[in-house]
Amino acid sequence: MKYRIAAVFFLLVFCAAGVFAAEPPQAKKLKVYISVDMEGVVGAVTGDQLGPSGFEYVRFREFMTREALSAVNAAKEAGATEILVSDSHGNGENLLIELFPPDVRVIRSWPRHLSMMAGIDESFDAVIFIGYHASTANVSGVRAHTMSSATLTSVKLNGVEVPEGGMNAAIAGHFGVPIVAVSGDDAAVAEVRKFTGAIPGAEVKRAISFHSAATLTPKTAQDLIRARVKEGVQQRATAKAYVLRGPVTLEITRSDARLACVRRVSGTAANGAQPPEPVAAL
Ligand SMILES: [Zn+2]
Repeated sequence: MKYRIAAVFFLLVFCAAGVFAAEPPQAKKLKVYISVDMEGVVGAVTGDQLGPSGFEYVRFREFMTREALSAVNAAKEAGATEILVSDSHGNGENLLIELFPPDVRVIRSWPRHLSMMAGIDESFDAVIFIGYHASTANVSGVRAHTMSSATLTSVKLNGVEVPEGGMNAAIAGHFGVPIVAVSGDDAAVAEVRKFTGAIPGAEVKRAISFHSAATLTPKTAQDLIRARVKEGVQQRATAKAYVLRGPVTLEITRSDARLACVRRVSGTAANGAQPPEPVAAL
């Protein structure tokens, strides 16, 4: 009898072990956010590539998409389990969403909270910048500007001039998330590293002037991005989030003093509030 009880006991133990062994190991969660701009995409140098009215736009939105896809694939190779991509250039409707894997989500168009970083929160583990450009204060970058080339000549956070990459690094840093890789021209990559430290960077072109660059070819650029992003996601533990001390001061300088005037908006807000009175230009 004793032997029979022992046999049943061992059978149950082995069955239980078998059940547990049959379950696949749980993949460790790794959420990656990819913010994609266009001025820093391979070969982009003028408005001819950067907007729907440009004669090369159709081809270049595909190059932009392929660069974003290179980052997506690299992140997956490095273990990413969830990826959110934000289309953060121009009208926010550039990326060819049908080319992305089915498990990726893409944020499009405006307006949206946190702009080029819409959807970021503390659940993410790493951020990647693709197609980024240098700041308006940087004389050496291709299409260098910050947020609006037409209206802003300087953007500072806590007294420090920031490119869009610096601003977006601070937003990610607010949630404790580090930037782990960046692509763009050499000026953009160098500028972003001032805020992130020496993260892997894919320099897809070398800036010659505001409208000129010595560029890689698309396939070479995509391969470079894939290699650098994979490296960045793998090394994410060494990347540091860019965290600003509060209270944060935002200082902007406009190209024309009249732009500082608040325009009166007609109508009444949904909550019944009246729009503010216009103030004098600074
Ligand atoms: Zn842009």
